[in-house]
Amino acid sequence: MSARLDERLERIYQEVTHRNPGESEFHQAVHEVLETLGPVVAKYPELAEHKVIQRVCEPERQIIFRVPWQDDRGEIHINRAFRVEFNSALGPYKGGMRFHPSVYLGIIKFLGFEQVFKNGLTGMPIGGGKGGSDFDPKGRSDDEIMRFCQSLMTELYRYLGEYTDVPAGDIGVGERELGFLFGQYKRITNRYESGVLTGKGLAWGGSCARKEATGYGTVYFLQEMLKARGDDLDGKTCVISGSGNVAIYAMSKAMQHGAKVIACSDSAGIIVDEQGLDLARIKRIKEIERRRISAYADEVSSARHIAGGNLWEIPCDVALPCATQNELDGKDAKRLIENGCIAVAEGANMPTTPEGVRLFQEAKIAYGPGKAANAGGVATSALEMQQNASRDSWTFEHTEQRLREIMIDIHRNCHETAEEFGMPGDYVSGANIAGFLKVSKAMMAMGVI
Ligand code: NDP
Repeated sequence: MSARLDERLERIYQEVTHRNPGESEFHQAVHEVLETLGPVVAKYPELAEHKVIQRVCEPERQIIFRVPWQDDRGEIHINRAFRVEFNSALGPYKGGMRFHPSVYLGIIKFLGFEQVFKNGLTGMPIGGGKGGSDFDPKGRSDDEIMRFCQSLMTELYRYLGEYTDVPAGDIGVGERELGFLFGQYKRITNRYESGVLTGKGLAWGGSCARKEATGYGTVYFLQEMLKARGDDLDGKTCVISGSGNVAIYAMSKAMQHGAKVIACSDSAGIIVDEQGLDLARIKRIKEIERRRISAYADEVSSARHIAGGNLWEIPCDVALPCATQNELDGKDAKRLIENGCIAVAEGANMPTTPEGVRLFQEAKIAYGPGKAANAGGVATSALEMQQNASRDSWTFEHTEQRLREIMIDIHRNCHETAEEFGMPGDYVSGANIAGFLKVSKAMMAMGVI
C-alpha cells in the first residue's frame, strides 16, 4: 500500500485485513480512504470515540447465494451471487449489480464500501450497497441471460424493496438484464414497485439520461477540474478505456465539448484513430450488434486495432479510465505524465492503483477519483427513484440539467473540503473526507447502530 497511516488508523486497517482475509480489492479501497482521514479524526475526536470508522468498514449485511440455471442445451450451471448491504445511514442501500467471472466477495465489498461515500457525496438520500455474480454473460443467448436473471432474482427479491435495497446495473448488467430482473421481481411479489430497481427502460419506469449519466457526469466533473485551472476541454485529445456504457457516454459528452477522442478499448485490445473516433459506429457495434471493439478497425481504414495493446501508451491530453479496477498502474501513470497528460477523471471504480494515484498527485495533474467523478450515475438513479415515487417522468433536458448541477456541486464540495483540510487541489482527500463526514454525522445521530 502507498502512504503510511497514523497509529490509530493503522490499527483499524490491520483489524480490517485480519477480519476479511484474501479480499485485496477491499483492503485497497479501505486503505485509500483511511489514508486521508488523519486530519478528520484529529478535528473530530468523537468519531474515534464512537468507533464510527470501524463501523463504516463493516457491512451491515452480506448475502451470498447459489444461482442454478440451465443453458440452451439443457446443461445445468451453478453460479454464486452476492449482495453486500453496506450502510443505510443516509437511505436505502443503493448500488449496481456486476456480472463478470472475476466477481467474488472482495470485489463486491470494495465496490460497496466506495459506494457509501460516493452516495453521500451526491447529497441524495441513498445508502451504499453493491452486488453481483461470477456469471459470464459473454457469448450467452438472450434466453440464457433471462434464465440466469430469473434464477438470481428468485433468491434476491426477499432482500430488496424501494425503501430497503435498490440495485442497478454495472459491468455486464444493462437495460436487458435489468428488464429480466425487474420482470421476475414483479412476478414473485405481485407488485409493480418501480422504485426497486434503477436503470430501467424508458417504457417501464426508467429515467431519461440515466443511461448517459455516469459517462456524462464524469466529463462534467472533468470540465470543472479544468475550469478550476483556467482551462477547458476544447481541442484536447482524449483516450478512454473500455467501450461499455460508461465509456460510450463519456466519449459522447467529451466530443460534444470539443475534445477529440482518439482511442478506446475492450478486454481484448485497443482501437486507435488519430483522426478521431466515430461515436455512432461505436454505438452500433457495441450497443446494437454486441460485437468486439476490433470490428471498428475492420470497418474504418484510418483506425487500427492492437490486440492486447496498452491504451495508456497513447499520447493524450486527457485520460478517462472507464473499464474496471486497477487497470492503470504506476508504470501507466508515469507514461501518461511523460506524454503530457494534464487530467484524469475516473468513470470506472478504483481504476488507478495506489502507485498510479500517488504519481498523478505528485505531478499535480488534475486527478478526479471515481468516487466523485463517476457519481453522476447513482445520482441520476436517485432522480429515477424520485420520479417513480411521484409517478412522474421528467424530460431529458430537465434530468440532464439536474445531473449537471449535482456534478458541479460534488466538484465544489470536494474542492472546498480539500482546501479546508489543508490539501488544496487534492480531490482524493476532498471526496473521501466530504463523503465520510456526511455518512458519519448521520451514524452518530442515530446512536450505536
Ligand atoms: P460495461 O459492462 O458496459 O462495460 C465495461 C467495459 O470495460 C467493457 O468494454 C469491457 O470489455 C471492459 N472491461 C470490463 N472488465 C474488464 C477487465 N477485467 N479488463 C479489461 N477490460 C474490462 O460496464 P460499465 O460501463 O457499466 O462499467 C464500467 C466501469 O464503470 C466499472 O468500473 C463500473 O463499476 C463503473 N461504474 C459504472 C456505472 C454505471 O452506471 N454503469 C456507475 C459508476 C461506475 P469487455 O467487453 O471485453 O469485457
